[in-house]
Amino acid sequence: MTQHLATQRSWTGSELRGEVLRPGDPGYDRERASLNPAFDARPEVVVSASRPADVAAAVTWARARGLALAVQATGHGTHVASDGGVLLKTSRMTGVLVDPDRRIAKVGAGAVWADVVAAAAPFGLAPVTGSSPTVGVAGFTMGGGLGPLSRKYGLGADNLLKVSVITADGVPVTATPDRNPELFWAVRGGGGNFGVTTSLEIRLHPVASVYAGQALFPISHAAELLERYRDYAPVMPSELTCTIALVGSTVAVRAMYAGDADAAQRALRPLWIDTPVEDTFASVPYARASVPGTAPRNFDLFAALPDSSVVLDVARESNAVEVRYWGGAIARGTSPAGHRTVPFSITVDGPEPERLWPYATGGSFLNFLHDPDAVETAYTAADYQRLRDIKTVYDPTNLFSRNLNITPA
Ligand SMILES: Cc1cc2nc3c(=O)[nH]c(=O)nc-3n(C[C@H](O)[C@H](O)[C@H](O)COP(=O)(O)OP(=O)(O)OC[C@H]3O[C@@H](n4cnc5c(N)ncnc54)[C@H](O)[C@@H]3O)c2cc1C
Repeated sequence: MTQHLATQRSWTGSELRGEVLRPGDPGYDRERASLNPAFDARPEVVVSASRPADVAAAVTWARARGLALAVQATGHGTHVASDGGVLLKTSRMTGVLVDPDRRIAKVGAGAVWADVVAAAAPFGLAPVTGSSPTVGVAGFTMGGGLGPLSRKYGLGADNLLKVSVITADGVPVTATPDRNPELFWAVRGGGGNFGVTTSLEIRLHPVASVYAGQALFPISHAAELLERYRDYAPVMPSELTCTIALVGSTVAVRAMYAGDADAAQRALRPLWIDTPVEDTFASVPYARASVPGTAPRNFDLFAALPDSSVVLDVARESNAVEVRYWGGAIARGTSPAGHRTVPFSITVDGPEPERLWPYATGGSFLNFLHDPDAVETAYTAADYQRLRDIKTVYDPTNLFSRNLNITPA
């Protein structure tokens, strides 16, 4: 098989069903492409896996040659180039199977959220997804996974029930709370550092329709709205996920409520100042719900919100500034994803918001981190040390290094 992997393009034989591409092969450029044009990586070989055995073959092959291995499903979270190594694509492994009685979805490593939402919706069920239907389930979940249902149902990582991975020695391992519990803990926030995920089982929730949208108010209301939000967010119902966004001449209340319109409007009332200039809120099926977001060019966490005058100053120099209260079920999670007890974040689409930094904790969230040198900031010191210890057990030579990397202890 190793010879095949090195020399041939595609297989239908017993060893590898995927496709193997080298520079110059037709399809090489298509398969190596990331969503981010800044990553114009040229891997030595691209392996597009169709099944777990293909993943195991690629891992074993890379390891035997001392080549680093990068994994990519969609390219949404590719922040490290895979030049010279092996790029393992999982995008063909898109199977989704819903068990409505157990409220579980079994998902292949290449599935994206739109696949799972579509499969779950006919049963009145929904997974905890993020803002984009095209993001990969595996990458999202292993990097923490924040979504508009997270305050009610936890982060994506908290909804992982079972994961199958191929470890650095090419062996399939299943992790659950009872089987390989340390690995199970680590993959729920530690990213792709411990193996290549081949499938996941995730929890679904009884969410058919939601009340979602945004209401725009004149920017002159921003200071008062921020003050109200500071007081109200810690006690708002966990069904409500809500942010305050300062965009140009308006301040927006953006929200999703997992419930009916009456309850949602009651929950939003403390944040209603005046009549909105524009109001897009409506009850819609979860599959069609969309809440505008702010590109996380800069992302910081805060134990307490800085004064609204500071936030307004930053907004004047930015395209958008969005303030979020996390809390709810997120704060009760037990995996290494995020800084669970830090309640506020501010996302800035604009230049580096130095005015905010004196108030920030210095922490980050793996899924919103772009800097491969700052991975440690995504964790508490104790969690980071534990992740490094688990990395040492499962990947002592750091085969899985072309990612937001946790180095072995
Ligand atoms: C438009 C957009 C919206 C987003 N919205 C949200 C959001 O609302 N909430 C949120 O939490 N995040 C969000 N993200 C971040 C996103 O969840 C992460 O970037 C995630 O890693 C993307 O996973 P992917 O598979 O789509 O991307 P890829 O680039 O294919 O993978 C990203 C990384 O995940 C790891 N990985 C992926 N699959 C595997 C696997 N099978 N085995 C091992 N490692 C694997 C690899 O390290 C890989 O480098 C968003 C990103 C974008 C671009």
